[in-house]
Amino acid sequence: MYRQLSLQLSAVLILLWPHVALSADNFNLSEVAPGVFVHFGKHEEANGQNLGDIANIGFIVGSESIAVIDAGGSVEIGRRLRESIGRHSFLPIRYLIISHIHPDHTLGSPAFAEDQPDIIGHFRLPQAITQRGEFYIDRFKGILGDHNATTILSPNLLVESEMKIDLGNRILLIKAHQTAHTDNDLSIYDENTKSLWLADLLFLDRTPAIDGSTIGWINTLKSLQKVSANVVIPGHGDIVENWPEGSNKILGYFVDLVNWVRNLIQNGESMASATRLSESAEAGDWLLFDDYHPRNVVKTFAELEWE
Ligand SMILES: [Zn+2]
Repeated sequence: MYRQLSLQLSAVLILLWPHVALSADNFNLSEVAPGVFVHFGKHEEANGQNLGDIANIGFIVGSESIAVIDAGGSVEIGRRLRESIGRHSFLPIRYLIISHIHPDHTLGSPAFAEDQPDIIGHFRLPQAITQRGEFYIDRFKGILGDHNATTILSPNLLVESEMKIDLGNRILLIKAHQTAHTDNDLSIYDENTKSLWLADLLFLDRTPAIDGSTIGWINTLKSLQKVSANVVIPGHGDIVENWPEGSNKILGYFVDLVNWVRNLIQNGESMASATRLSESAEAGDWLLFDDYHPRNVVKTFAELEWE
């Protein structure tokens, strides 16, 4: 009843407030499960044209409040997400969940400051903001303009291992993972719809960027494969409805990478020669492969050479 009323009310308000409806730009938004909304980012590097809109971001609506999951790669993208939420619901945004430190997920966070949400992050996120925040802001001011990279809101609720939040008839289970994509990755599970929001723990089309641990990422994915999920939302790429099979491609990439690097190390090759060899690797159907694969080789080599 309450829900129905609030929907009617929002329809009336949109009619009375035409600029909200008129400002519906080409900001895509899909309801991938009831009440679970995803905006799909582009498979590009952040630039002045796409305004850092390269990651999947979105929100989940309960009967009393809304949780935003990642704020986008610039203040402008965060603002467009905030606007699109306003078109769907007038419920308060009580939570902003930051899946990890990377700028394509965090630089939009100031767009939610006025909502004064609780900001949820991995217990290592504050340290990552201290270490990299200024660097990201400086770098992306140059790419996106000063007004689009201003600050990264810091979490006030830290997830040590697990945390549950209630949006009203809707429980989200938030998990802090071991070092994988980064050392501060969260996943979010909506119990109502069995939607598993993995953010950058899952890449589908775009070559994964290893900024944490290749072995840790393999182990994390193997444990996530046991989750019963109807829909899985990656940080980059389309949703997955065949879980866990939908994780086989990325897992296969990591396993092949580890085997290949281990073999080179056993043969006494240096990191420099591994990097050189990686430049002629086959991309398969991975996008931006030449940009990320050599970096992944360096990261994995550094991790495995001390085994
Ligand atoms: Zn990332």
